[in-house]
Amino acid sequence: MSQVVGIDLGTTNSLVAYMDGATPRVIQGESGRSMVPSIVAFDQDGNPDHTLVGDLAKGKLIAETGRTIYSVKRFMGKGREDLEEADIKQVPFKLVGGEKEALRIQIDQRLYSPPEISAIILRALKQRAETHLGSEVTQAVITVPAYFNDSQRQATKDAGRLAGLDVIRILNEPTAASLAYGLQKTKQGIIAVYDLGGGTFDISILKIKGGIFEVLSTNGDTRLGGDDFDQRIVERIREDLLKQYQIDLFELPALRQEARLVAEQVKCALSEQSTAEIVLSLPNKKGIYRREISRKEFEASVQDLVDRSTGPCLQALADANLKPEDVTEVVLVGGSTRMPFIKQAVENLFHKTPHSELDPDEVVALGAAIQANILSGDISDLLLLDVTPLSLGLETMGGVVSKLIPRNSTIPTSGKEMFSTFVDGQKNVSIHVVQGERELVEDCRSLAKFNLTGIDPMPAGMPRIEVTFLIDADGILNVKAKDLRSGRAQSVEVTPTYGLSDAETEAMISASMEHAKEDMEKRQRIEVQNEAETVIRHTEKALKQGKDLVDANEQRSITTALAELKEALSRENPAAIREKLNRIDEVTQSLAEKLMSRSVKEALQNKRLDNI
Ligand code: AMP
Repeated sequence: MSQVVGIDLGTTNSLVAYMDGATPRVIQGESGRSMVPSIVAFDQDGNPDHTLVGDLAKGKLIAETGRTIYSVKRFMGKGREDLEEADIKQVPFKLVGGEKEALRIQIDQRLYSPPEISAIILRALKQRAETHLGSEVTQAVITVPAYFNDSQRQATKDAGRLAGLDVIRILNEPTAASLAYGLQKTKQGIIAVYDLGGGTFDISILKIKGGIFEVLSTNGDTRLGGDDFDQRIVERIREDLLKQYQIDLFELPALRQEARLVAEQVKCALSEQSTAEIVLSLPNKKGIYRREISRKEFEASVQDLVDRSTGPCLQALADANLKPEDVTEVVLVGGSTRMPFIKQAVENLFHKTPHSELDPDEVVALGAAIQANILSGDISDLLLLDVTPLSLGLETMGGVVSKLIPRNSTIPTSGKEMFSTFVDGQKNVSIHVVQGERELVEDCRSLAKFNLTGIDPMPAGMPRIEVTFLIDADGILNVKAKDLRSGRAQSVEVTPTYGLSDAETEAMISASMEHAKEDMEKRQRIEVQNEAETVIRHTEKALKQGKDLVDANEQRSITTALAELKEALSRENPAAIREKLNRIDEVTQSLAEKLMSRSVKEALQNKRLDNI
């Protein structure tokens, strides 16, 4: 059987690992390095045979600035509106794409999608594995940050497919890291995985019990990583060059790239020693710029970046209903956790010495190889569970969201709810899938819309429409709507053309907290109005149908109650509407008992889907 490999497709670097017997191993390239820089360099005519990947492409960062692509993971599964000006300014290559369009990278006259660029990196890793193993590699487990949304996961899967790989699982990076540390052997405990890589920060809180991992909560910041630390050194250089040489680094792309590379080297040196020297040769015979920087000075300039990781850590703990003291193990992932003051900050936060025995750059790939092994059937006693970052729901009458899968649900998961129609004889319903924490559709993100047609025409509230949300182990959502009477069903796999940035995810969560009270009030107002409209229609119909069943007195009290309800509804006063609804309930009790079948009564309480 061919070997299934584990791939860590990183923002800065990517790695491929496999199981050598019972030991996971990262595969090294000819140079003896295990990391492949996630960089792709194109030549002038875009000849694929001349495209360079990894270290070779890194060498082109300076000379071929606009044709050398890095940090493409930041753009996976995203649209133009998911990016801020700063994201676009930070990279020297051209990003194009209109509103509601997937993003493209323009190189000369050609356009590439982020998955296409990632596929070139994946192909290089596949080749590396095939050379090492001496056989074809066709299947892989690929890791993604825990916060990747549906669209970003899909984009990663697409990249795998484009590279000729069957992606048998998309695995969250922190889950992989926990596996690499073999923490499943711990009988019971809470693990915090602190992952500070090149471009992203993720914190995940996992629970282990009886060899089973469960991700309790995740949080993070897609705009925080080692690159930002480099940038602080670049800023220092820029200030100096402006002052001393009147050179603006940002106007000289090649020099800017060089400064970025030098800054990274200096940062890494400062993890080992207390001072380092910045050396940069300047263009136009301006000589060489030199400056000494101490670890203390560097640490002071990035203190706010370190502090920015604290908020998501505390939020993740709060989401899991835990306190820092409850954490029993802390795992460090990502090259940036080599910085001594990051280790110290994590230790201070969780009151635990974090695990850092394994190479923080390799842990995720090693874990992916272990997962690949599990899936190919060699290990069967291990189950991995992840969670959904945002709630998923459906639009119901009046633009109210009915949540089918709450945020932080363990995946794979499913949610099911019964809906009905709103008007008599309704044959179609529109299914609108939304994502977010707010109560109203207008405040959530629209993921997909589709129609269920061919419902047998029936009185409003009678059809029974079952809507099922299913999130598979890769975090991809499938929505199915079924008319239980006709048996007609319609389903979609939710694949938006662009996704939600982690910053947006976070913003949606915090907005839901901020607006919780007003949202709830708005929702209640809409719901009570919907209910009143339905009750008015049904009562009028019941009065007509049951004329012979009521005496004049009863008839009068029902008509009066109806008029009062209509009046309260026109004033949009929720409390009055509720009071009048109760009154109608009282006065129609006897008529309802006589007239309404149990199913109609049930239908009155059903949630309705809008007509289309
Ligand atoms: P990753 O995305 O996990 O590959 O992390 C790469 C990031 O780790 C880059 O920003 C590197 O500059 C950073 N990094 C690697 N080694 C060190 C080190 N010794 N000290 C500080 N940062 C490092």
